[in-house]
Amino acid sequence: MYIEIGDSIGTSLQLGSNDRKTLDEIESILTYASFTSREGKHCIKTASRACAQKITDYLQTQSGYQKIFFSYINSHFSTYLAGIKNLVKPYIVVEKTNKKIERLEDKIIVNTEFASRCDFWNSVNFLPENIIDWRYFLRIAYYEKMQQSILKNIDFSLTPEQGSGGRTIDTYKFRCNEGKFILAILDSDCSYPNQPYIPKSNADQFNKLDPTIYPTGTNVILDVHEIENLFSSDIFLSNGNKNNANKFIGYNLPPEIRQFYDFKTGFAYNRLFKNSYMNKKIIDSGITIKLCRNLLECLKKNKNCSCVVVEGMGNDYLIKLFGCNINETKKDISNAVKSDFENRLMGAPEDLIDPIKKEWQRIYRAFLTWFCSFKVNICVS
Ligand SMILES: [Zn+2]
Repeated sequence: MYIEIGDSIGTSLQLGSNDRKTLDEIESILTYASFTSREGKHCIKTASRACAQKITDYLQTQSGYQKIFFSYINSHFSTYLAGIKNLVKPYIVVEKTNKKIERLEDKIIVNTEFASRCDFWNSVNFLPENIIDWRYFLRIAYYEKMQQSILKNIDFSLTPEQGSGGRTIDTYKFRCNEGKFILAILDSDCSYPNQPYIPKSNADQFNKLDPTIYPTGTNVILDVHEIENLFSSDIFLSNGNKNNANKFIGYNLPPEIRQFYDFKTGFAYNRLFKNSYMNKKIIDSGITIKLCRNLLECLKKNKNCSCVVVEGMGNDYLIKLFGCNINETKKDISNAVKSDFENRLMGAPEDLIDPIKKEWQRIYRAFLTWFCSFKVNICVS
């Protein structure tokens, strides 16, 4: 996250308030801010040079990292970090105020009591529907980040969570109730453009949430069927799949169909022909449509049967494609994604149609806002 230490914090220190509780909270905040910045968990900056000065003056009598951190970041990175602030929405401001948390459109104001908890300074949680999904979201975010030279010193720091099907929303609410910041990205499960969300699906449940009750949570519902629909062709060519990319049905699908195709289970007859747009696209594409299992029975149902007529790739499709296993650590996965870029295994998503490019941008902006981090290494002698 982009976290700003507000001017009221500097002022409270300068005035030497008698309020011991607030001073204790501010001291915790300064400690957490400097150390989590050294660990590369957030982008942290004071609201103004004057505020940074007041903090360093206050810490004058103390030796150690906090004092050096605030004066160093202010003198060396102030302009750079201010540029990053313009790219995130919302950012966080820590202020001396009575309200624990107030979420506005462009910023979230948290008070010293809220921000003095150790938990506040941990990396923001990331909740995709399946824990292996985050690997591809990270690829998308890294790709978009690399298009902007200002972001070359910015990384993403996050704590992946295991979404659990229809119970994903419970994890989201639980974390929010704990006061944790969390970003969830949900599949729409839609089979054609502008389809209403399926009742009780994850998308439907998250769509109905009242965001004012969960001010630390943000959710993004994909405008495609699910994560697999965001794949660019290069994913089918990487991870040793180069010689058999063609065996992945998704690789051969025309882009407009790829957007709503169910990579796991395929297309059922009733879903396929419910929408005239998809109906036409599929027929035009010339892809193989199988016959129903029991044609005579199905004909009686007047196109309402649920026979699978375009095959899927099975439930472990993502694992097959990535060749990844659940024992990999967060660091393994980050390194694998970075190495794919360095080895140019991941190219530009040239084969993506505009609606999918737009989704890549949304994911990147959400990643930048919630997971942006800037690592500060200062030698304290
Ligand atoms: Zn049928």
